[in-house]
Amino acid sequence: MSSLKIAVCGCGNGAHTCAALMSRKGHSVSIYSPIEEETRIFQKNYEENGGLDALIVQEQVRKLPIAMVSSDPGEVITEASIIFVIVPAFAHKTIFQHIKKYMSRDALIAILPSRGLIELEIKEYLPDAKVMAFQTLPWSCRKIKTGSSVNVKGIKERIQVASRPSDLSPVFYHVMEDLLDMKIERVRSIMTLTLANMGQIFHPGILYGIFKDDPGKTFTEEECPLFYQGVTEETAELLTAISLEIKEIGEQLSLDIPELQLEKVLTPSEWLMASYKDVIEDSSSLKTMLNTNQAYKGIKVPAVQLEDNRYQADFHCRYVTEDVPYSLLVTRTLGNMAGVRTPVMDQVIRSLGQWINYPYLEKYHDAEEFSSQSRLPIFYGMDKISDLLST
Ligand code: NAD
Repeated sequence: MSSLKIAVCGCGNGAHTCAALMSRKGHSVSIYSPIEEETRIFQKNYEENGGLDALIVQEQVRKLPIAMVSSDPGEVITEASIIFVIVPAFAHKTIFQHIKKYMSRDALIAILPSRGLIELEIKEYLPDAKVMAFQTLPWSCRKIKTGSSVNVKGIKERIQVASRPSDLSPVFYHVMEDLLDMKIERVRSIMTLTLANMGQIFHPGILYGIFKDDPGKTFTEEECPLFYQGVTEETAELLTAISLEIKEIGEQLSLDIPELQLEKVLTPSEWLMASYKDVIEDSSSLKTMLNTNQAYKGIKVPAVQLEDNRYQADFHCRYVTEDVPYSLLVTRTLGNMAGVRTPVMDQVIRSLGQWINYPYLEKYHDAEEFSSQSRLPIFYGMDKISDLLST
């Protein structure tokens, strides 16, 4: 493939990883973030290091070139033929609003990952764009130092992608497979990805499982609980219970939305095997798959430091602020619209909401305040499943 001009929107873990991998393939990569402070820090650290370093599973690659980093969308977006959007879902709308007037008509937008009902924001802000929506991020990754170093811990084997328009030419799918070096499984509708989103099960579910008995628990830096490696049998059962509720919602929704592909909505175990089969040491149960997945090794609970050098779980992290209002709550709302009860999801959502003093289930009725912090159908004038058919 000849060298492409690629824009990466975002400056977090996934954006660093994407920029490094695209640069390693010889493409011209520029980074856009509306947050000026992070583009300034990126530029400074990048220059001091002489490039972006990446540990890609076992392979260390040094001093990868990044053409430009800027908080001016015009500088980065105008000439890009591929635009990756890699930010938590609560930032999608902001990014779309900033980039829309600079995008070339032929550019392809890839949203990694899309999370719940992204099609509502695509339709509202990028109605004429060619968009590919990803079910998840293709990598498990953490940035080590902004602008100079990123650790790509794991690379998934295959990934589900849907598009808008839904009949987007297969050429774009081939281009994306080449860029990502990954098998892409085409899904008919973006709505399927709302249900297939595994982050909505793992992130709130595991956080709830670890802290349900003592959310105020404190610990030293060394004692900070491991996230995936710390999953117990009881938490694994909770994840399975959420997945069963999603299955029931899917079955009910599919009565009205025929393009839903329920066979693409995998259970946690199926998804782990499809994504990480070769790096899971013990696949005998969901618990052991999570505990022994090399791509998850060493990932800890998000924590904040207290004054006395102790730490506490940070429930304001994206595992809650993204994965509840832009994912699990969206799915739960679709379920309730379709008449499905969701006691397990409700318990998880209610508890996480209480821990950040944000009663998600009650806020649903307070549309004006909540609409800037979630992606529920009601904020797009939709309160019946049939309203969603036009998206
Ligand atoms: P991150 O938390 O590192 O991303 C933060 C970046 O998002 C910021 O640096 C900024 O550039 C941007 N951002 C945040 N708030 C913003 C705002 N209000 N306006 C504009 N930009 C804003 O996230 P990440 O780890 O890169 O993850 C990106 C997505 O991938 C998320 O949806 C996450 O759930 C998903 N994901 C990540 C991983 C992983 O291993 N990192 C794995 C699976 C899925």
